[in-house]
Amino acid sequence: MATRSALSFAPDLDLTRDALASSTLNHGLMVLGERWTMAVMMGAFTGVNRFDDWQNRLGIPRPTLASRLKALVALGLMRQRAYQERPRRMAYHLTAAGMKLYPHVLMVWVWERRWGSRRSQLPDTLLHKPCGHHFQPTLTCTACGDKVGIHDLQLTLKTNRRLLALAAQSRRAARLASSSAASMGLRVDRWSLMIVTAVVLGCHYFDQLLHVLGIASSVLARRLNSMVEAGLLLAQPDTHDARRTVYRLTPSSRDLFGYLVCFSTWAAREYLQEPSSIRPVHKTCGQAFIPRVACSACGEAVHPWDVAIAPSGHSNP
Ligand SMILES: [Zn+2]
Ligand SMILES: [Zn+2]
Repeated sequence: MATRSALSFAPDLDLTRDALASSTLNHGLMVLGERWTMAVMMGAFTGVNRFDDWQNRLGIPRPTLASRLKALVALGLMRQRAYQERPRRMAYHLTAAGMKLYPHVLMVWVWERRWGSRRSQLPDTLLHKPCGHHFQPTLTCTACGDKVGIHDLQLTLKTNRRLLALAAQSRRAARLASSSAASMGLRVDRWSLMIVTAVVLGCHYFDQLLHVLGIASSVLARRLNSMVEAGLLLAQPDTHDARRTVYRLTPSSRDLFGYLVCFSTWAAREYLQEPSSIRPVHKTCGQAFIPRVACSACGEAVHPWDVAIAPSGHSNP
């Protein structure tokens, strides 16, 4: 099966297209990439467990919130428990499987603190109880423990045939579901994440992106424009051919990489139990990269039960 370095000069467009479609990122986003779903999960990690509290905190329409909670229960990420009998009222709690999204949630938090626009819904500070320090969640390599940035990883592509077939099956359903603005509940939507990933894999031109993403050119043009406006992409004239535009990552979209790698890993290990078609290797230690989110103060892996959060919403101007 074809394998190649994703950072080589000209991307293999067919391989990149199949790798994107069969990536655990794509499949994970199909189930959790809907508008509000991640926001509901993040609320749960900050201690929200009642319907009205989510509604007050996030301003989600009631039917939407009800359907997102139902979906999260069906996925096994949350469970219901009655906290009042008459009238019967249900609370929603994270399951052990739901808790495993915590590294991803911490990466979302880091990104939103730095680049997002909806800070009031996020905790102001995180305290790591075992060491007693306020901390920044830090992405490290499970194998060697080093801190890792986007340039420390080598990405290799290997199409996952089973997930590719599954992607073809669900394409029509996904197209219907994503007709409204799908998002991770925050500023970045599902398509933005797929486009950022395609750029990371070396697709810098409109025709390349069109080939690997398989969406209509008018839709792609609209999405690229809105990403440029949102500061997620830089559009520059090509130095070799000024008629062509080169799309590049910006500091904020480059910073999404922790978020992408943690979510892809969760989807591969906990949701699909399938290897992703996009495989990062940590260049320094040579091992397959498995993310570990650590405390910036003591270096230990961060678990949800070890973290105390300061209430949010007080620091808004
Ligand atoms: Zn390593
Ligand atoms: Zn610590």
